[in-house]
Amino acid sequence: MSRFYDAVKERMLRYARIDSQSGTVTGPGPSTMCQKDMATELFAELKRLGVSDIFYDESACVVYAHIPASPGVTSEPVAFITHMDTAPDVSGHGVHPWVLEAYDGGDILLNREKGIMMKAEEHPMLKQYVGQDLILTDGTTLLGGDDKAAIAAVMTLAEVLLTQPDFPHGPVSLAFTPDEEVGGLARELDLERLGARFAYTLDGDHVGWYQDQTFNAAAAALDIHGISVHTGTAKGLMVNASDLAVEFLYMLPLKEKPQFTSGVEGFYHVCSISSSCEHAHIELIIRDFDEDGYAARLEFLGSCAEELNRRYGQGSAALTVTEQYLNMGQILSRYPFLTDLLQRAITDCGLEPVCEPFRGGTDGAALTFRGLPCPNLSAGYENAHGRFEFVPIQSMEKNVEILLALCRRWAERDEYFK
Ligand SMILES: [Zn+2]
Repeated sequence: MSRFYDAVKERMLRYARIDSQSGTVTGPGPSTMCQKDMATELFAELKRLGVSDIFYDESACVVYAHIPASPGVTSEPVAFITHMDTAPDVSGHGVHPWVLEAYDGGDILLNREKGIMMKAEEHPMLKQYVGQDLILTDGTTLLGGDDKAAIAAVMTLAEVLLTQPDFPHGPVSLAFTPDEEVGGLARELDLERLGARFAYTLDGDHVGWYQDQTFNAAAAALDIHGISVHTGTAKGLMVNASDLAVEFLYMLPLKEKPQFTSGVEGFYHVCSISSSCEHAHIELIIRDFDEDGYAARLEFLGSCAEELNRRYGQGSAALTVTEQYLNMGQILSRYPFLTDLLQRAITDCGLEPVCEPFRGGTDGAALTFRGLPCPNLSAGYENAHGRFEFVPIQSMEKNVEILLALCRRWAERDEYFK
C-alpha cells in the first residue's frame, strides 16, 4: 500500500457523498446551488491543510488556491484545474460509495436489496483492475468519480507539497470550477487570479492517458420551407418540406456518423428533426479534428442546402452554422513542452503514456483558446455518467505520483520558459 492510499480513499469517499450535480445553465453563477457545498468543503479543507493563499469566488462558484514554490526554485507556475460538478445524466443525490478490496475479477453485487449486479462480461474494463481496490456505487446513482477522483488526487498533491517543503516544485495554482458537465467551459475562471500561464485539466478515464486534441466543432440548423396546399388539389403545386428533409438526410455520407467513427475520424450527427409540409427544421452537429476537414464539412453542408435550392427554388433551404469550439491542438502544438513534460511524468511513474484525441469538448479546450494552454490528464475513473461508475483507488494514488513527478519536471526544466 503506497503512502497516498488512505488519503485519496478518504477524500474520494467524502467528496462522493456531497451532491454537486449540475443542471441547465441559465445565467451567471453555477447552474445548481448544491455545487457550492463542494466549493465550501474544498475551501475549508485547503484552509485546514494550511494553504495561505485561497480565494472562494462565491458568486461564480470557483475556488482558487496558490502553493508557493519550494525554497530556491524559481520555475514558471503551473495550474491544475478540476471540476466540482457531476453529470446530470443519472441521479447524483444520496450517493453511497463503498470499497471493494482486492477485486477478484467476477461479477460485483452493487445492491443486494435491489438485486443490482455489475457483470464482468458487460464491463470488460473491469479485467484490468483485478487485485485492486474499487470505489463503487450502490447501483442507484452515479459515483461522481468524474471529476472527484481528480479532486482527490489534486488535494492530496497539495497536502504533500505543503508537508514536504524539500520536494522541489515551482509555484502551483489550483482551481476548482463548476458546470463542466453542462458546457460551462470554465467561463468564469479568472485567469489573472489563477496566476499561471499554463495549466492542465484533470478529467477523463484510464490512468496514464492524456489528451492534447479536441474536435473542431460546430452546430448547424437547416430550415426548409415547403408549400402547403390542400392534398386534394396539390398536384403540381405542393412542395412537402418533410420530403426535402429526407432528401437532405440522404445527402449526408452514410458512414460518417458517430456510431461508425472512432479515433480521429470526424462525423455529422443529426440531433433532431421536426417537420410538417410547410416547414422542416433539422439540427445537427459537425465534428472534425482536422482544420481542413472541418472546413470541408461545413462547405459540404452548404452545398447540400444549395442543391435543395437548385432543385426546389431559391429560399427552399437555409443553413445557419454556429461554431462551438476548435481543436486545442492547433494552439497546444506551439507549446510542445506541455505534453513533453506530461509524458515524462507519466513515464517516471512506471506507466506508458497514452495520448488519445478527445472526442468531445473540454473546459481545457475553451481555456486554451482564452490564452491558457491546457492539455488534459486523465483522472482515472471508469464508466462515468452512469450507475456502474467506479474508481480504482490505485489509479488515484498513481495520479498523485504523476502530479508530483510533473511538478518536479517543471521545476527542473526552467529553460523552456527563458
Ligand atoms: Zn469530467
